[in-house]
Amino acid sequence: MIDYDKILCDRIRKVQPSGIRKYFDLLQGMEGGISLGIGEPDFVTPWHIRDAGIYSLEKGFTKYSPNAGLTDLRQSISRYMKRRFDLEYAGAGQVLVTVGGSEGLDLAFRCLLEPGDEVIIPTPSFVCYGPLVSMLHGKPVLVETKAENEFRLTAEELKAAVTPRTRAVVLPFPNNPTGGIMGKEDLEALADVLRGTDIMVISDEIYAELTYGQHHISMANIPDMYERTIVINGFSKAYSMTGWRLGYVCAPKPLIAAMTKLHQYAIMCAPTTSQYAAIEALEHGDGDIEAMKEEYDGRRRFLVDGFRRLGLSCFEPKGAFYTFPCISSTGLTSEEFCDRFLQAEHVAVIPGTAFGPGGEGYVRACYAASMKDLGEALERLERFLKTL
Ligand code: PMP
Repeated sequence: MIDYDKILCDRIRKVQPSGIRKYFDLLQGMEGGISLGIGEPDFVTPWHIRDAGIYSLEKGFTKYSPNAGLTDLRQSISRYMKRRFDLEYAGAGQVLVTVGGSEGLDLAFRCLLEPGDEVIIPTPSFVCYGPLVSMLHGKPVLVETKAENEFRLTAEELKAAVTPRTRAVVLPFPNNPTGGIMGKEDLEALADVLRGTDIMVISDEIYAELTYGQHHISMANIPDMYERTIVINGFSKAYSMTGWRLGYVCAPKPLIAAMTKLHQYAIMCAPTTSQYAAIEALEHGDGDIEAMKEEYDGRRRFLVDGFRRLGLSCFEPKGAFYTFPCISSTGLTSEEFCDRFLQAEHVAVIPGTAFGPGGEGYVRACYAASMKDLGEALERLERFLKTL
């Protein structure tokens, strides 16, 4: 008999599975369950985008694409980045098409980190950064963002976390789970800390299209920062295309060349059908983004108002599709709250602690769900809170 615990490498055994999935799995067996747990748009991919994928299959486009992605797609991404975010990236050499933003993040870490290198990660934030860094023998340096700073990373917090071993800082904005975003001045203050160092910025901009009332700005837009910034983006959130598994990285040429080597050996190329669909999304999908965003915006206000009405304080999220209400007034920990709410009312929300330090006392509720479900979830919450 093989003892798999002995043959699996240490760094994999030590990594914990994501704390998000547990609630999703528990909810599966429950009658009348409502999930505000998973961070995924509830819309089906717009028809014209699906149609472009289907049409590519009809035409027989079923082969590998170039490693870096279809030339036409990279050109579309290049034009899109200019049009929407005023960023110049050449389709040839500065864009790499990946299997979701997830692969882009992994590639960025793998290209930069030597064992022992430190990566500054603001928290609460998406669950993958720390484990990806640890699996490379890097050291995640977690920096708590705070509600009183609207969950932004401040220059003082960044400065205090920098050491001679700092190789990169992750900028996870618009943020999952807090909904915090960074404005131009916030980024400029961080740039003042980074200028003159060789610390790289891994900017996870997967929610860049989903900001409310304020246009997204990238660290790559800030003077002198373009050269050190790796922009991670993708189609999952903006176009409701999670299952198509398509994302991209934009960065200076030597970085894209390095990441393409890794991608070439590990992945070959992103799915070809998805790439054809993505061209259609970029060329004719601006209206879809607007329509979905408007819908999210209404739900966002509805949920935030609902929490506040029930006596839970809630930061007004400025981006992504999550609310992050404070539940400490209930006297429960985040995990107790989520477990008991799920058992009593069959509604899944995620403990803030799943997203790292700073998450205790909060839960994440995703509003990429129907208004009907959101309304019902609030009614059940009201009932639940009365039992405490
Ligand atoms: N970054 C953030 C902040 C996310 O929330 C997610 C998905 N939940 C991803 C990256 C990965 O997205 P995908 O791989 O589907 O592009």
